[in-house]
Amino acid sequence: MKDKKKNERKQIDFHMHSLLSDGQNSVEELVQLAYENNMRAIAITDHNHISICEKRIIGNESDFLEILPACEFSTSYWVPEQEENIEVHVIGLWLESVDPNDFEDIFSVCKLGKLEYIQEILKILDGLNVHVSLDEVLEEQRKTGHLGRHQICDVLIRKGYADNVDQAMDRFVGNWSPYYLNPLRFIKYKKLDEVVQKIRATHGIPILCHCYGYSLDENEIETLVKTFAKTSDGVGGIEVFYENYLDDPSRMHFLKKMAYRYRLFYSVASDRHCVDQHFATGGDYAYYLKMKEALAKNNK
Ligand SMILES: [Zn+2]
Ligand SMILES: [Zn+2]
Repeated sequence: MKDKKKNERKQIDFHMHSLLSDGQNSVEELVQLAYENNMRAIAITDHNHISICEKRIIGNESDFLEILPACEFSTSYWVPEQEENIEVHVIGLWLESVDPNDFEDIFSVCKLGKLEYIQEILKILDGLNVHVSLDEVLEEQRKTGHLGRHQICDVLIRKGYADNVDQAMDRFVGNWSPYYLNPLRFIKYKKLDEVVQKIRATHGIPILCHCYGYSLDENEIETLVKTFAKTSDGVGGIEVFYENYLDDPSRMHFLKKMAYRYRLFYSVASDRHCVDQHFATGGDYAYYLKMKEALAKNNK
């Protein structure tokens, strides 16, 4: 029985959020839950915040879980086809340790302009007869320590304007909502290239997140992937096994094709925020070993 359990421990998940950004579990709870769910390696990727700086291992010698230092960065990417900057998310994953001080300049700009951005969204909602006050959003910020669109969603749900986060995003504030407001009009995130280069300079692996989460068609996604791959210099990854895309064969096919064409590693992501969400099911430990091997060669 014990051996069976050991064999099962091979899932990885390199994208999830804790209370230190907009998730609902603490870091310790996530670690414990991942261990209980037989995960083999995870990364807690809070937004613009490094929640774990040193690799941790829990369990025993033959049956353990690795927790890797990581972060989900908000970056600014110029879409040549649209002649506009959009917000694109990139994960930095470190296999041993990272010093958050190296990223202070990148993190500090993320907070500037956030309040103005939120206020502008609330104005738009008000025009739709959807009434959310800044105080209500700031109340959510006090609870979570985070200020962003997710906190607006929490208020929208509480006040009955939406049943859940997905619905609140789709209807009102998400990238595919008709009322979407580009945050880059208010927040000057660092450029994608700059963030990717910094991750590489600190011996991390940059991973391009949820490619279908931006307002881009597949041709535009390919341009993004190409730009990203060039900057990551042979040690980049892409979220192929993003939990929400697993049931869509055409998306999976396209993401695998992108990974192959631009020589990017497969990454695995639940993007877990809520207590009732499960960990990633799509990937396996072999993908992590591939990244590890390439990084070791590259850093020599
Ligand atoms: Zn994201
Ligand atoms: Zn995320």
